[in-house]
Amino acid sequence: MNSNIHEKMLNSVIGAKSSVLTTVNPDGNISHIFITGRSQKSLSRFIGQNISKFVRFIFDKENSELILEKLRVCQSLQQEATLSQLKHCSKRNLIEYYNCTFSSTPEQNTIVYFDNVTESALINEEFGNITNQYESLNQELAIAMAKLDFQLMDFELAHKKLSALYKITAIVQKTVDEKEVLNEILDGITRELGFVNAAIFLLDPASKVLTSKAQRGYKADMRIPLGQGVTGYAALHRELVYVPDINLEPRYIPGTGNGFSEVAIPLIVNDQVIGVLDVETSEEQALKEYDLDLLRSLASQIAMTISHASHVAKAYIEAATDGLTNLYNYRHFQNTLAQEFKRAVRYKRPLSLLLIDIDHFKQYNDTNGHLDGDNALKIVASLIRQFCRVTDRVFRYGGEEFIVLLPETIILQAYIIAERIRKAIAEYPFQTLNTNISTALTVSIGIAGYPDNADSELELMAAADAALYSAKGSSRNLSCLYNSN
Ligand code: GH3
Ligand code: MG
Ligand code: MG
Repeated sequence: MNSNIHEKMLNSVIGAKSSVLTTVNPDGNISHIFITGRSQKSLSRFIGQNISKFVRFIFDKENSELILEKLRVCQSLQQEATLSQLKHCSKRNLIEYYNCTFSSTPEQNTIVYFDNVTESALINEEFGNITNQYESLNQELAIAMAKLDFQLMDFELAHKKLSALYKITAIVQKTVDEKEVLNEILDGITRELGFVNAAIFLLDPASKVLTSKAQRGYKADMRIPLGQGVTGYAALHRELVYVPDINLEPRYIPGTGNGFSEVAIPLIVNDQVIGVLDVETSEEQALKEYDLDLLRSLASQIAMTISHASHVAKAYIEAATDGLTNLYNYRHFQNTLAQEFKRAVRYKRPLSLLLIDIDHFKQYNDTNGHLDGDNALKIVASLIRQFCRVTDRVFRYGGEEFIVLLPETIILQAYIIAERIRKAIAEYPFQTLNTNISTALTVSIGIAGYPDNADSELELMAAADAALYSAKGSSRNLSCLYNSN
C-alpha cells in the first residue's frame, strides 16, 4: 500500500493519542473493538475480521509478527503476556510507543490491549533512572485495565481517568519538595479524577501515628493512630480497604462532612508503609472497580514520589548542615541571609545579625587539645541555640565563629539576646575530657542590623564584623553594637 495513504488511514483509525482494546475469539477474529478518544465507527469495520489484518494495518512487518506470535502463545497456553514499547514511526517521523497486553477470558477469548504509552514513555525517558519502576507500574495498570469487564464499563470515562493518571505522574515526577508534591498530587486527584475529598496521611514510625499532611475536603491536621479507623487499618494491614457505606462501618472516623464511601490505600515503598491515601466520595459518586485499580496504581506512584522527595530533602539538609555542631553551615547561611535580607527590604521590616567569635580559642585548643576544643564548640553551639528565640536562625560561620540571624528584630532587641547568650556561655563550666577540670570560655559578639547599619547584605556583614572587631579590641567577653564613627 502506498505509504501516504497508509499513513492517512492509520491516523484516521488510531489517531495520535488513542489506545485500542479488542476481544479476539479462539478463531482469531475480532468480536469487539473499542478505541479511546475517537468515534467507535472508525474501527467497526474490523469486527468479524481476523486480528492479523488489524495488527498489520497499524504496525510494521516485524512488530506485527511479534504481536501475532505472542497472541498465538497466549491463546494456546491461556496465559497473560505483554509486549512493551512497540515502536511506530509516523510519516512525519514522530515516534509513538504502544504497550500490547494479552489476557485470556474464561470463555477462551483473548483481550488484546494496544495501549498508546507515548506520553509515559517520553516522561520515562526524561526521568532516566526511575524509568523502569514507573514503566512496570504502567504495565501493571495496562493489565489491570485489560482485565476489566470492558463491556460493562464506560470506556470514555476510564480513558479520561487513565490519562489523568499519566498527567498526575508527569506533574509529581517533576517536583521534589515534599509539601509541593503532596499538594500537586491532591490537585491532580481532585481536578483530573474528580474526587472531591482526598487526603494523604504520612506515618511517623516512632509514634506510630498517621498525620494528614495534605488534604482537600478533609479536616486539617488529622492524627490517626496506626490500626485505628479505616485509614489506620489499611496502614497496619498493608491492604486497600474499601468501605462502600461508612454508615455501616464501625471503624469509620469522620474525615469529611459529606462522605459516603471511603477507600484507604497504604503507600508502600521498599516494603515499608510510609502513609495512606484516603479518598471519600459522596453517595452520588459511587466508586467503580476500576476506580480502585486506578487509585491502587496511583498510590504506588505517590509512594515512590514521596520517597524520592524525602531523599532529596534529606540530602539537602545534609548539605546545609555542619557535621560537628549540627548547626546550619556557611553555605546555608549565605542562602538564608539573601532571602531574609530581600524579605526585610521588600516589607520594610527590621533584620539583625549577631557575629559571635570565641575568645582566645587557639589557646584553649593548645592547652586542652583538639578533642576538648571540638567538644567546647558543640557546647557553645547548643548554648547559642538554647538562649536565642525559636524564630532566630543559628549558623556555624567558620571554625569558632557563629552567626545568629534575627528576623523582625531591631538592634536593641538583638543586643538583649546577644547579652543573654554571652552571659550563658561565660557562666558555663566547660569540662575537659581527661582532667575533669572546668574551664571558662567567653565569646565576643558584634551586632548590626537593617535598616540602621546597612543597605545591603554585604554592608550588614561588614558592620557586624566591625562591631566584633571593637569587642575584641576592648576587653573581649563583650557584646558591641555597630558604631559608624
Ligand atoms: P580571638 O579571641 O582573637 O578570637 O582569638 P582566637 O584564638 O579565638 O582566634 P584565632 O582566629 O587566632 O584562632 C581560632 C582558633 O580556633 C584556631 C583553631 O585552633 C580553632 N579552631 C577553629 N576551628 C576549629 C575546630 O573545628 N575544632 C577545634 N578544636 N578548633 C578549631
Ligand atoms: Mg575567629
Ligand atoms: Mg576567636
